[in-house]
Amino acid sequence: MKKTVSFSKNAVNVFFHITTRCNLKCAHCYINPDQHGNLTLPAATVTEWLELFCAPDKTANLILLGGEPTLHKDLARIIKEARQIGYGSVTIDTNGYLFNGILDQVTPQEVDYFSFSLDGATEATNDRIRGAGCYAACTQGIKQAVKKGFAASLIYTVSRQNLHELADMPQLLSELGVSRFFIQVIGIRGRSAGPGKDTLQLTRRQWEENVPPLAEKIAKSGITVTYPRVFLEPDEVFECAGNTAENYFIFPNGRVYQCPLCEDHALHSLRIEDGRISNTPKINEADLFSLDIPQGCVINKLVQGGNISYNANGKPAWKIACCLLKEEIPAG
Ligand code: SF4
Ligand code: SF4
Repeated sequence: MKKTVSFSKNAVNVFFHITTRCNLKCAHCYINPDQHGNLTLPAATVTEWLELFCAPDKTANLILLGGEPTLHKDLARIIKEARQIGYGSVTIDTNGYLFNGILDQVTPQEVDYFSFSLDGATEATNDRIRGAGCYAACTQGIKQAVKKGFAASLIYTVSRQNLHELADMPQLLSELGVSRFFIQVIGIRGRSAGPGKDTLQLTRRQWEENVPPLAEKIAKSGITVTYPRVFLEPDEVFECAGNTAENYFIFPNGRVYQCPLCEDHALHSLRIEDGRISNTPKINEADLFSLDIPQGCVINKLVQGGNISYNANGKPAWKIACCLLKEEIPAG
């Protein structure tokens, strides 16, 4: 049975970009080097910053990402130190190349999930988006992780370039031994924000006819599926995670965002400097979270408003939900 995962007030979710370096050049890469450089944070600084976000009275979940986080030579040390600090779960988001022998340096007790990114059920489609050789490296990486006893999840960033292969994913997921499947909406930021790229996003009809039915089917095959809610009816309650939850998206240059849609701009509301978190001057993302508009998410309207349609009377036909609002279908 599908359920909406509401924002938790007793959890802190830390999305830590420990490096913005990457071995790939995906067509839709969301990292904007003009904003976030090509930096790797030393392990000692990562640990220092991790301590700033972990509180004893809340569950702290850590997602280590990049760039490609396995390019960080001290990733294993970072994972072990995060556990000692008190992070209750640790996930590694990877493109599958698994550098520095990471699978031999950590244990399934230390890492809750290795989360792999694959954007096609076939080599042709995935590699057109992510680069030659990626499909083979990623599927091989998943097999190695599963063989060593790690839990593997898979993220499929759906766009008009790969929607046609979403229906072929169930078989591949079960062949690979993946236990969780995340369907993600392509964000119009980073490399996806170039001229003409706004046609990458699915229409509401494309989304609703394909994604929720397929998620149900995959869940029935024994894999938990999560996907964003995206579209709300005009009379449905809209909530911004920036007002009600604790999500922090940390970059090696010290910027800390609470909304991932803002990452293409210097709109971060927090900054880490000299080992301390401070608020940034106005105007920043936090000034926009409380704005009440009929289109739902304000930042969506500003940076990727092509996903909203308007009725003949000029009113939006639907609201766009917070990008962090998810539907989850447990494995059936
Ligand atoms: S999307 Fe991820 S794997 Fe691809 S280039 Fe960007 S950081 Fe690297
Ligand atoms: S996506 Fe929109 S609703 Fe969600 S945190 Fe960002 S501004 Fe708020």
